Amino acid sequence: MGKHWTEKSLSEMNERDWRILREDFAIVTKGGAVENPMRDWEELNIIPRDLLHIVIHQLQFPLPTPIQRITIPNVCNGKQYRDFLGVASTGSGKTLAFIMPVLIRMSRSSPRPTSLKIMDGPKALILAPTRELVQQIQVEAEKVTKIWSRESNYDCRVVSIVGGHSLEEISYSLSEGCDILVATPGRLIDSLENHLLVMKQVETLVLDEADKMIDLGFEDQVTTILTKVDVSADSATNRQTLMFTATMTPVIEKIAAGYMRKPVYATIGVDTGSEPLIQQIVEYADNEEQKFKKLKSIVTKYEPPIIIFINYKQTADWLAERFQKETNMRVTILHGSKSQEQREHSLQLFRSGRVQVMIATNVAARGLDIPNVSLVVNFQISKKIDDYIHRIGRTGRAAKKGTAISLVDGAEDETLMRELYKYVKKHDPLDNNIFSGGAKNKYNINKEQKNEIIY
Ligand code: ADP
Ligand code: MG
Repeated sequence: MGKHWTEKSLSEMNERDWRILREDFAIVTKGGAVENPMRDWEELNIIPRDLLHIVIHQLQFPLPTPIQRITIPNVCNGKQYRDFLGVASTGSGKTLAFIMPVLIRMSRSSPRPTSLKIMDGPKALILAPTRELVQQIQVEAEKVTKIWSRESNYDCRVVSIVGGHSLEEISYSLSEGCDILVATPGRLIDSLENHLLVMKQVETLVLDEADKMIDLGFEDQVTTILTKVDVSADSATNRQTLMFTATMTPVIEKIAAGYMRKPVYATIGVDTGSEPLIQQIVEYADNEEQKFKKLKSIVTKYEPPIIIFINYKQTADWLAERFQKETNMRVTILHGSKSQEQREHSLQLFRSGRVQVMIATNVAARGLDIPNVSLVVNFQISKKIDDYIHRIGRTGRAAKKGTAISLVDGAEDETLMRELYKYVKKHDPLDNNIFSGGAKNKYNINKEQKNEIIY
């Protein structure tokens, strides 16, 4: 009777146990007929043996993360393929939470004959907002599919389509077959319009960084893609849409609902230990010269890799040059005006540890998973609080600790500064956040204000 859920067999689990389990992982759901979370990878027999083996023994993830626990039973329990909106912090394993269901569903239908290269298009389409994120998702998926193809003869090919790659290159990469397509919307539309591929059998559509994807600018593109996906009524009825993000605002939630049918909504709360372990520090500096001095003294206290965020591409060059000269640290730059080749090279240098510091714009704010980033500096603070949350989320990933230091000056937006203050106060898992007196004075932040915005 008094046993904890971890000590019980599945058949012994009662409502109270499930409730405690959900509380233990801070899983909150709505949407009706929601399945219970998985207690481990195996128990519910949703994941086929070969995939289980890869996740546990090759990727070496002994247990699912909370978002993985709740997503998998709800989107591929075998009864129905439901739509799903998942909100969970940066670095909490959302990628595998959608890659596993894609593969599980694929494993249930017969594999594409190896000889068949061009066919009715991919079974899964994953959309993400930046080229770097698309390529990272491809790599993550391939970590599983390459082993899967080798050991189970399930020839599953993952292809990415991003801006900056020519149509010839894209056409070539599709020519060997494509079961999972990962893409940025713009380039995918070009490829569809140029008849490089069709999408007649998409079973799973994923929007990673969903709020960004249906935010201004991207929404039209996503809608255009949807009209091209829905060619056969058959695939339309079976298709499921999965959306993931770390920051969902109520407005976006409403728009998202427009894309989905009776979705399950799942949020992983941050109050019970699911929060990324990031120390946040906000410091005041009068001007860029002062900021630069602070920056120099800060970075020497942390182990690379370190990311420095800026708002303007123009800042990147002088900052990189001066920083490199005065610190002897090796620096690379990532922003949207670099050529695709430069972007890939830059990230590659940083990922491989050949350079210690990356100076980047918001292009690097979303989704990038670079292991062991110890420090994120906002040399210029982002204009929106969501971007701030994503930027600092490049550190403190997968239960590791990290630090985020923001340098603010006298010309910041007051509303933003208030939101920032609230956020720093509220999300202090290590109990060591600092919002400097200088910044408080400048922006008249003295007393605690009621939380109006919930992230
Ligand atoms: P998110 O998309 O939520 O920001 P990611 O999917 O990029 O997070 O995952 C962050 C890190 O956690 C990655 O390095 C990933 O390999 C790792 N990870 C994913 N699932 C697990 C797991 N079940 N156990 C341990 N680490 C995991
Ligand atoms: Mg992600």
